[in-house]
Formats: sequence, structure tokens, C-alpha cells
Amino acid sequence: MNREARKILLGLAYVLIGLFRKPLSGFATGLECMDGRVQGALRKKAKRKYRVKYVDIITQPGINKILAENTDVPIIENIKKMLWISINDHGSRTIIIAAHHNCAGNPNNKETQLAHLREAEKTVRNMLENLPLGDLGLSPMDFVIDLLWINEKWMPEEIPSDKWLVKMNA
Ligand SMILES: [Zn+2]
Repeated sequence: MNREARKILLGLAYVLIGLFRKPLSGFATGLECMDGRVQGALRKKAKRKYRVKYVDIITQPGINKILAENTDVPIIENIKKMLWISINDHGSRTIIIAAHHNCAGNPNNKETQLAHLREAEKTVRNMLENLPLGDLGLSPMDFVIDLLWINEKWMPEEIPSDKWLVKMNA
């Protein structure tokens, strides 16, 4: 195939992909570190995977550790308040919790950080249980929670949550 023909085919392929691809719409929610190196990775991942137009970003330094420990009441309550705004005002049904390489707020190794991430998921599930989702005709089961590890190349890696591990081992 000559170069021109290939160019035309490629152009056509892009047009077709554009036509059949779901347009970006709605919101997802990202819970991640304040670290400026990581927010782009989560946003891009959420938009690509869930076709959302916007990602509300809730940040704290080392948020996976804060959520895992679940002891700093004012911060936890504030995170919950922001999560509710994202759900109630923006209609988010997708929550992504991220941890990352070289985190100043959680300077633990990857293994420990992933354990924090899984505990963080439990805390967020618990938050969902305690939010007035019934007022919106929803239950915690209507929400997807994804876990991400943002690696040393600032690329997101999906981390299976405990419930998947349980399923895989069953
Ligand atoms: Zn960090």
C-alpha cells in the first residue's frame, strides 16, 4: 500500500473511532495526593476508562495513608464532605483512589502503600454507607471504586482491590 492510501485509511479509521466512541460526559472523583506530579495521570486514566469529561480531585498529602488510618477526624470529615459534593452536585458514580511512588506524605514502600490503598477503599466504602445516598435513590453498590498506583514513570497501574483478590482465590 502506498503512503497516500495508508494516510487516507488512517484518517478514515480515526473518523470512525470518533463516531463510535461514547462522547465524554459527566464526572468522576479522584482521591489522591496533593503532589503535582500525579494528578494528570489519574485524570487521564479516568477520562479514558470511564469516558467522563471532568474529574473532581480531592487531595491530601499521602491521602491513602490518611484514609487507611481513618483517625484524623477533621480531615476525614472534610474528605467526606467533598466526596458528597462530587456525588450530589456533579453526579459522580466513579471513585478512583490513588497512591504514588516517591510520596512525601506517605514515604513507605510500594507494598505498604498498596496495603494502605486497600484499607483506604474500605474507608471510602464506609463513607458511602454513611452518606444520604438514599435521598438520590442510590446505594453504595451503585459506585465503582478503582485503585491506582502511579509508578516512577508517573504512569497509572490498576491495583486489584481485595474483593477481586478474594474472588480470584475462591
Ligand atoms: Zn504524595
